[in-house]
Amino acid sequence: MKVFGRPFGKGRKVSLFTLGTMRAIGSKEEMQAVLKTACISGINHLETSPTYGQAEKFLGSELKALRQKGIQPEGGWVITSKLLPGFNLSKSKDQLKDLLSRLGISKIDNLALHGLNLPEHLHWSLNEEGSEFLHWAKEEQLVDQVGFSSHGNYSLIEKAIDSNRFDFCSLHLHLLDPERIPLAKKALGLGMGVMAISPADKGGRLYAPSQALVKDCNPVEPLELAYRFLIAEGISTLTVGASKPKDLRIAKKLNQAIGKLKEYELQAINQLLSERSRRLGNSQCGQCRKCLPCPQEVPITDILRLRNLAIGHEMEVFAKERYNLIGKAGHWWESKNAQSCATCGECLPKCPLNLPIPQLLAETHEMLADSPRRRLWG
Ligand code: SF4
Ligand code: SF4
Repeated sequence: MKVFGRPFGKGRKVSLFTLGTMRAIGSKEEMQAVLKTACISGINHLETSPTYGQAEKFLGSELKALRQKGIQPEGGWVITSKLLPGFNLSKSKDQLKDLLSRLGISKIDNLALHGLNLPEHLHWSLNEEGSEFLHWAKEEQLVDQVGFSSHGNYSLIEKAIDSNRFDFCSLHLHLLDPERIPLAKKALGLGMGVMAISPADKGGRLYAPSQALVKDCNPVEPLELAYRFLIAEGISTLTVGASKPKDLRIAKKLNQAIGKLKEYELQAINQLLSERSRRLGNSQCGQCRKCLPCPQEVPITDILRLRNLAIGHEMEVFAKERYNLIGKAGHWWESKNAQSCATCGECLPKCPLNLPIPQLLAETHEMLADSPRRRLWG
């Protein structure tokens, strides 16, 4: 299948969509079916990780099986895998060798450090054994280029990009959470490849949108609009975590859909924003971040963004899922919820919209927090 390739750092060109393999791990057959459909859909880029269960092992066997049947994208597959930061040099080397062995290859196109979420992770990768490890992996010609994924804060990601040490990055970039788009543009401007992490799921469970969101994006499907928004912003490639061939429907449809937003897409985005404003009235958080930092480390903007979505597009299911993960996902997500607000009032004069922040936080907790009863038996 012909691939519409996009530059990705200094490495091989990749398709507009990247098959994320974290969901096709039920069986080898499931992996093969998804790979086959990805190939037919114009996808040449696969993203995997040792933390995705059997994904690398299944990929190794099923890519070989498909190759024997003559099924592979034009120019072959491009593979990105990821390793967690923080290990000593010898352990990191072993992990990379094991990863290559599971995939059945002697060299991987792209190796990312998986979750540069904390300053110590970045320090490890730039100044400690992580730096030595990345240097070794390139010297030994085991990887073509190195990058990182991050769920960390804005300034940490900016430092990683500015370090000039990485050729690509994977970031949370979403139509409904566009805060990191300037970081993506900065990375692209420096010649890095940029991959959007899970626009469908982490971008708002857009594979199962609320009725209000469907109406707000009309006539475009919410997921299609989210993809087109990111493509028009110039993001190199977008991950799609498919477990079944039909999960790749929109990726197939949009596999060459580069270029600016069309008039009807712009109108849909304007409608989305105006419907959100209408439902939230003067309680909408503008996400400007001027209220930060909070002395109690309350992630004010993240919590009020969930409130914006829950009320603004009736996305309570997604907002509850994210809110109730706070404090339960280690360094992959925020650790403090709205209950940590000490009502000190320090944020109030910093808000250009004069929002009653402590009151909105308390209301959000009331609206989104699982009740103790549901936590016990739900
Ligand atoms: S009022 Fe609450 S959210 Fe605002 S700065 Fe004080 S503790 Fe933080
Ligand atoms: S300063 Fe106000 S509008 Fe800006 S992010 Fe904070 S709460 Fe939202």
